[in-house]
Amino acid sequence: MIKTKAYAAQTATSELAPFELHRRTPGAEDVQIEILYCGVCHSDLHTVRGEWHNTLYPSVPGHEIVGRVVCVGAKVRNFKVGDLAGVGCMVDSCGHCHSCDEGVEQYCDNGFTGTYNGPVFGGENTYGGYSQTIVVKESFVLHIKHAEKQLARVAPLLCAGITTYSPLRHWGAGPGKTVGIVGLGGLGHMGVKIAHAMGAHVVLFTTSSAKIEDGKRLGADEVCVSTDPEQMSAYANRFDFILNTVAASHNLDAYLQLLKRDGTMILVGAPAEPHPSPGVFNLIFKRRQLAGSLIGGIRETQEMLDFCARHDIVSDIEMIPMDYINTAYERMLRSDVKYRFVIDLSSLK
Ligand code: NAP
Ligand code: ZN
Repeated sequence: MIKTKAYAAQTATSELAPFELHRRTPGAEDVQIEILYCGVCHSDLHTVRGEWHNTLYPSVPGHEIVGRVVCVGAKVRNFKVGDLAGVGCMVDSCGHCHSCDEGVEQYCDNGFTGTYNGPVFGGENTYGGYSQTIVVKESFVLHIKHAEKQLARVAPLLCAGITTYSPLRHWGAGPGKTVGIVGLGGLGHMGVKIAHAMGAHVVLFTTSSAKIEDGKRLGADEVCVSTDPEQMSAYANRFDFILNTVAASHNLDAYLQLLKRDGTMILVGAPAEPHPSPGVFNLIFKRRQLAGSLIGGIRETQEMLDFCARHDIVSDIEMIPMDYINTAYERMLRSDVKYRFVIDLSSLK
């Protein structure tokens, strides 16, 4: 067993605080990674605070992990000591269901194992990246081809990057398509960058007029302040799809009516409280669709990392020490971060 320093929440109402955990000794197919940086996803906050009513405590979040390989098992073929490596939201899945066979382990019929909070259908807890080291089986470890100096800015790709890349690919974002991205947070700013790199016409919807210039700098062709009904109505019936990343319950009709006939709005935001049910007429009159999407499979996550390396896409980050995490959560709730906090794990002494 490997003793590891970490930060954990003991209950839904307690702050994150120093914690010690044990990682398994690497087996034949395992890779041990010294964690250098870990992004802070809004899902970490939802989980720590028990907002999805499924949290196992103590909770050590963090699923945007990058670091250096320090040990490999005897059967590991694709990683060697010293390599840069990443771990995203999953560390295992059943490996034999229809979804696993197709490389979409996030939809595993038997439930994938989250990097933190254990198997999705229940089981022993797992501990994430707010820690010094992690041991993961090789098939769930990703290669990083960005330059090493970019490493901290690559971390958020492991969740925010893949969660936006996967639906944009699945629904065919590209030249000739008009794509809306709702919310300029961790996911949203990656969505803007990736949709732009795919060649789509990108419109950012934000509640914060202070983010207009940033939205354009990040790759949006147009920015709409969603709290202004006049600006919103100018976009009626214009979108092939809309990727909605908002972390809070809100009125979906405001966006559904912006879709073209047969357009789709994809929900990736997972608020604690449900959205009010959308009006049926907004859907049936133009055969519009409302859909959801969950992170992405391992193969597609590697594809996304390689795409981002080719297009020189990384996250806009604010680096923080581990002991700043509770303040960071409060600031994330106020959308006061451009656009992802990333923990420097060397601060965890
Ligand atoms: P984040 O950084 O906090 O960004 C969320 C953004 O939503 C904010 O920056 C803000 O953008 C907008 N927003 C927040 N409150 C709002 C409100 N009351 N009304 C309207 N807009 C609001 O969060 P994130 O890390 O990007 O995560 C976003 C959501 O996706 C979370 O619920 C997270 O759990 C979920 N998630 C889902 C998956 C998946 O696989 N489906 C994966 C990862 C995360 P503006 O200031 O621009 O309006
Ligand atoms: Zn996440």
